[in-house]
Amino acid sequence: MIKLVNVNMNFRGKQTLKDINLTIEPGEIMVIIGPSGSGKSTLLRLIIGLLKPTSGEVWVNGREITGIAEDELNKIRLEMGMVFQYSALFDSMSVGENVAFGLRQHTSMAEEEIARTVRRKLRMVGLRGQENTMPNELSGGMKKRVSLARAIAINPHIVLYDEPTAGLDPIMSNTIDRLIVSTRRMIDSTSVVVTHDMHSAFAIADRIAMIYDGSIIETGTPAMIKQSENPIVAKFIRGAAT
Ligand code: ATP
Ligand code: MG
Repeated sequence: MIKLVNVNMNFRGKQTLKDINLTIEPGEIMVIIGPSGSGKSTLLRLIIGLLKPTSGEVWVNGREITGIAEDELNKIRLEMGMVFQYSALFDSMSVGENVAFGLRQHTSMAEEEIARTVRRKLRMVGLRGQENTMPNELSGGMKKRVSLARAIAINPHIVLYDEPTAGLDPIMSNTIDRLIVSTRRMIDSTSVVVTHDMHSAFAIADRIAMIYDGSIIETGTPAMIKQSENPIVAKFIRGAAT
């Protein structure tokens, strides 16, 4: 479970997230929508502990992470995978090595099993046989998919996706959507997905939360969000869908 309690985040005095209260249940797919600059990536970085909130509590799997020591935090991070908005691959490592990275660092898997896992994850994201390709030989969408394969390689309990389908064509976007849903089913993960793609949001979400100017202005099932009477939500969904 992920739980944010009265979370505020200021950057140089500017209030970027304001009194965020959000609970994401185990096994749930929570989709975060909202305009550019509203604080979505910041929210994910708080959950994975890359940022500490100015005030408030962040709970991950029953632990409050804002005050804990770095080595404790690292242990909790092992249960999380993140697809960053800008893929953040290791450029000097092959695609296969990128995906294997977490397995080598954090498991005692034998080489053969690592190779098998890498092969399987690459197949899942439509990159069969690309183990030896270098990141600079890939398109943006392909990098995104490698980053996704890397995030789910260690079967994390929590997967955070920051714009996983940005820059992908519609068919590949659908593939990634299905992958997010099947990953949840396979490893019973809790997922938080930030997206600008409303089609994708409504297709995969159990619940959707909308952030606007640093505040969560609405949370609900896709059906509830579709019928929202909040004019900002209604306008955003209409605008983003067309
Ligand atoms: P986008 O949809 O464009 O990715 P976002 O909703 O993910 O936007 P954030 O990246 O969370 O938005 O940024 C929210 C606000 O916080 C922006 O005004 C941004 O400039 C500011 N911000 C984010 N990170 C930092 C930082 N490390 N230092 C200072 N300001 C920051
Ligand atoms: Mg962002």
